[in-house]
Amino acid sequence: APIVSLRGVSKVFPGRRGGTPVTAVDDVTIDIAEGEIFGVIGYSGAGKSTLVRLINALEIATSGTITVAGAEVTGQGERALRRVRAGIGMIFQQFNLMGSRTVAGNVAYPLRVARVPRAQRAARVAELLEFVGLTDKARAYPNQLSGGQKQRVGIARALATSPRILLADESTSALDPETTQDVLTLLRRVNAELGITIVVITHEMDVVRSICHRIAVMEKGKVVEVGEAYDVFANP
Ligand code: ADP
Ligand code: ADP
Repeated sequence: APIVSLRGVSKVFPGRRGGTPVTAVDDVTIDIAEGEIFGVIGYSGAGKSTLVRLINALEIATSGTITVAGAEVTGQGERALRRVRAGIGMIFQQFNLMGSRTVAGNVAYPLRVARVPRAQRAARVAELLEFVGLTDKARAYPNQLSGGQKQRVGIARALATSPRILLADESTSALDPETTQDVLTLLRRVNAELGITIVVITHEMDVVRSICHRIAVMEKGKVVEVGEAYDVFANP
């Protein structure tokens, strides 16, 4: 069974100040297989972020059904939604690190929230920092790091609670091309070595071309094409 499945999913936002409602996601049906790196591409305003927020249960679909790791997201209570979110790691364009905490403190944060005991927390943080190559930065603060290092901290934090799915929302858009390649190499390792399914949301064609197994192209809320990256880009 697919790890993420959307069936006829739409999200309509009420119009701002009584204006016309916006259909941000319009009747989307896609399946993402476990172990895939799946790209969602499209211009700004196409509905990519809303799609991610639906998968992560941060928005509730207006219609359609969404299942994540076998659990139906649509029509669930807050407790079930928290469980769905716990199985999903997220990384962001602006990294979203806490400036008042060290690198180790940022990576440890989701473990604290999950009430993982201190000794286990320290061991897990050490393991994660080693995986992303930042062991020597454990005591540094985010403002002492380069953009690429910050995103590696973001990835370590997202992996802390061992999610099966990693959602990457414009995760390289703030980085220069060389740093982008480093982060993409790390994401490939997350996928290949840890077996984590990755959903990459981006407007950068090069990103999907370089790491995605399959992609969906979004336009005006609709998925207008799904396929292997090679085929989609070969299509004139
Ligand atoms: P993308 O991530 O591809 O840039 P978004 O999902 O952010 O696209 O936005 C899709 C559309 O939905 C846009 O027209 C946007 O203005 C609208 N939209 C997104 N979030 C909201 C919201 N909370 N309220 C009203 N409209 C929204
Ligand atoms: P706290 O100790 O209050 O949880 P810290 O920011 O000191 O917050 O560290 C966060 C976590 O990372 C703790 O579990 C800590 O044991 C662990 N940690 C601290 N320093 C290192 C390090 N150099 N290498 C690996 N893990 C570390």
